Amino acid sequence: MKPITEVYIDDVAVSLPTKWAICQECNGEGSVSSIPGSFTGTDLDEWFGNSDEREEFLGEYMKRGGMYDKPCPDCKGAGKVKEVDEAMLDAIVLKLYHQAQSEAYADWATEQAERAMGA
Ligand SMILES: [Zn+2]
Repeated sequence: MKPITEVYIDDVAVSLPTKWAICQECNGEGSVSSIPGSFTGTDLDEWFGNSDEREEFLGEYMKRGGMYDKPCPDCKGAGKVKEVDEAMLDAIVLKLYHQAQSEAYADWATEQAERAMGA
């Protein structure tokens, strides 16, 4: 799920203050071995886009003969994530942020459901 880093107030984008936090998904390890199965080109696009990290990851992957933990999908192997610092938000922005989050979650859930059906 894409992190929300800005909200719109009267169509003006407001960047949200962020802080580094240990990734909850992998506990800061940067990889998750518990996800079964292999990755696809679509996963790679999602994780790395066209960045150099993609080449690096594939290089490592080949070195280990395909026995590679998945890089954590949340932090892309960094072990830490940028989190919106909610303590820094004022009430209005916080409300917009929570709205944006639930919308993003709804989109994400729909996407997962479609994926599960093989769409
Ligand atoms: Zn992680």
